[in-house]
Formats: sequence, C-alpha cells, structure tokens
Amino acid sequence: METKKCPFCGGSMVKGKSHQEGYAMYFWRAPWRKGVLESLKGTIKAYPWLCLNCGAVIPYVDKEELQKIREEYEEARVGEVL
Ligand SMILES: [Zn+2]
Repeated sequence: METKKCPFCGGSMVKGKSHQEGYAMYFWRAPWRKGVLESLKGTIKAYPWLCLNCGAVIPYVDKEELQKIREEYEEARVGEVL
C-alpha cells in the first residue's frame, strides 16, 4: 500500500483506490491548452489521499503525469517569453 506524509500534520496518508470511485474524481486542466481537441485530452486526473491522523483528503497527480505537465509548462513558458 502506498503511503505519503501529510503536509498538514505529518501523519500517514493512504492513496484512494481509484480517482473515479466514491465521487472522489478530481481533475485539473492546463491553462495553456486551448481549443476543444486540446481541452479534451487535457484533463489531468488526481487521486485522493486520506490522512489517517487529521482526516484531510488531498488530491495528488501521479508522478509520471506530473512530469509530463512540468515539461509542457516549461514549453508554454518559453513560448510566452519569445
Ligand atoms: Zn494530516
């Protein structure tokens, strides 16, 4: 079982089973993605994590997904500067 340290209290957080179950679907869309087609593929899913100590539920994006977004962000930022 995957666990994380809670950023609020330092307690143990447990990852939710799925990003779609229990109405716990969170998503995020990159602001640099424009147009209908870009937007459709642009939804980022996050998994809810529950802190067993303080009860906080925080959605987190998977590492691989995060890496992709980071690269896109760098590209988008460079594009704005030029
Ligand atoms: Zn906590």
